[in-house]
Amino acid sequence: MVQGSLWNSYSNKNVSYPALKGDIAVDVAIIGGGITGITSAQLLVERGYKVAVLEAKSIGKGTTGHSTGNLYVIIDELLSKLKSKYDGKVVERVISSRLEAFKKIEQNVKNFQIDCDYKKQPLFLFEDANTFKILEEKKVAKEIDLAFFELSEAFPFIHDDGMRLDDQAQFNPLLYIQGLAGALDGENCQIYEETCVRAVEEEENRILLHTPEAIVSAKHAIHATHTPKGLEIQYHTTLGPYREYGVAARLKSNEYPEGIFWGYYDNKKYSIRSYSRGNDNFLLAVGSPHKVGQAKDNQAHVEDLKNFVESRFNVAEFTHVWGGQNYKPADLLPYIGRKKTNSRELVATGFSTDGLVYGTLAAIILADKVEDKFNPYEDLYEASRHNPAKAAGKFIKENANVAGELFKDLTFKGDDKDLVEILPGEAAVIVRDGKKLALYKENDGKLSILSALCTHMACEVHWNNVEKSWDCPCHGSRFDTSGEVIEGPAFNALKKIEINK
Ligand SMILES: Cc1cc2nc3c(=O)[nH]c(=O)nc-3n(C[C@H](O)[C@H](O)[C@H](O)COP(=O)(O)OP(=O)(O)OC[C@H]3O[C@@H](n4cnc5c(N)ncnc54)[C@H](O)[C@@H]3O)c2cc1C
Repeated sequence: MVQGSLWNSYSNKNVSYPALKGDIAVDVAIIGGGITGITSAQLLVERGYKVAVLEAKSIGKGTTGHSTGNLYVIIDELLSKLKSKYDGKVVERVISSRLEAFKKIEQNVKNFQIDCDYKKQPLFLFEDANTFKILEEKKVAKEIDLAFFELSEAFPFIHDDGMRLDDQAQFNPLLYIQGLAGALDGENCQIYEETCVRAVEEEENRILLHTPEAIVSAKHAIHATHTPKGLEIQYHTTLGPYREYGVAARLKSNEYPEGIFWGYYDNKKYSIRSYSRGNDNFLLAVGSPHKVGQAKDNQAHVEDLKNFVESRFNVAEFTHVWGGQNYKPADLLPYIGRKKTNSRELVATGFSTDGLVYGTLAAIILADKVEDKFNPYEDLYEASRHNPAKAAGKFIKENANVAGELFKDLTFKGDDKDLVEILPGEAAVIVRDGKKLALYKENDGKLSILSALCTHMACEVHWNNVEKSWDCPCHGSRFDTSGEVIEGPAFNALKKIEINK
């Protein structure tokens, strides 16, 4: 089984960009080349701005390339939950803003002839026992005049209640981003890969972005990094970082269900879809979430997902397994806009698992911000908003959880003997000379020794046994076994530690 997303197996190998080697000056520097960053670049270049995209790794291979590739106008947390916090007007505005972004994606596929298996599909929501989730959703849909249909007799999953929304869509998200980036690269749009931004300095008239080999000077900077980097405490305390898993499988029969399927089982949600390219067919299932760095055994989450698929489909083999991260905002709305009033730094985060459409919407709103043009949705998603009444319950819950993690000592090994007891492929956190160390033994027996303190806010990192990474339970930063940042708010790598034996 491949450890990596299905989309990676269909990556366009011809798409690659150089690393930035010398200083440059542009109008807008965009940090991050996922759907938010590349769409922002597109819209700004179309308006005549000179843009640079600085991507730490490869274009599209962050969360965008780990998503399910479903496009829809409702939200993962459901409209009924949104309605319970706000009113019908807000629900309508969320839908209409998402529809605008959805149409932008559709238009891009058509205008740039992007070969990404884009297809209109219905979205099915169903529950196996009557928890009234679907009933509530139907009520809200009726109130805001969102067309939906009852499920037909032929619906392939056992259900108690369900509904169908037509004219939603699916695509291969990585091929979409690679195709869009390919259509943009040119004089006014420079794209760089393997170019990690390590620090951002805002001066009075410009912003300086520091990368390992160059400095980029810009009039505006967009943080399109999924979550803002650094100690942006106002965001990290209102966002809950969650990780979930995806598996792809080949089925024994050739009966791959067509559509987007969101199934609710005992309050667990699984998202299911099929994907075909050439003669290859796959079934994908995504779900089994947990807070980042807080799973006792990540592998158990993957097994849960596989068991779910095997109990409902005739699986020939599982072909891919991967994990992906999302940031859930306490008040259910993403943060899109200026970092602070009058700041030249713009942020886009808190997309939950709806960020292919929200990322595109963020690009539309942020392009207007750069131009100082009014956007009808800017107030709804205002990044500097403070919404204590709407965020309250969830805010308290997320932060109590973070405080708990800050002070919880999960260290379980403590002396030199334990250094040699770790088996190849295994990891542990120990205390030595008063310091918390994260140890990992590679398959060849080489020991990697790092400080176990996250470089964002010094929480103790936890081992992720599926993805072989050190994950921070507080705000979701993740590090590879050499200490390098994979994702999350941390800018800097875990410190390497030398031990004298
Ligand atoms: C399992 C899963 C399934 C999902 N399915 C769906 C779905 O079906 N539909 C949907 O709408 N949404 C879905 N989502 C959500 C969606 O994938 C994300 O919200 C969206 O892709 C975020 O896009 P982005 O461009 O903001 O971030 P990313 O795609 O993560 O891009 C950010 C980029 O920034 C780069 N970066 C980070 N730090 C730096 C730095 N310091 N310097 C330079 N570059 C940096 C990263 O390498 C990365 O490439 C899903 C999410 C998950 C986890």
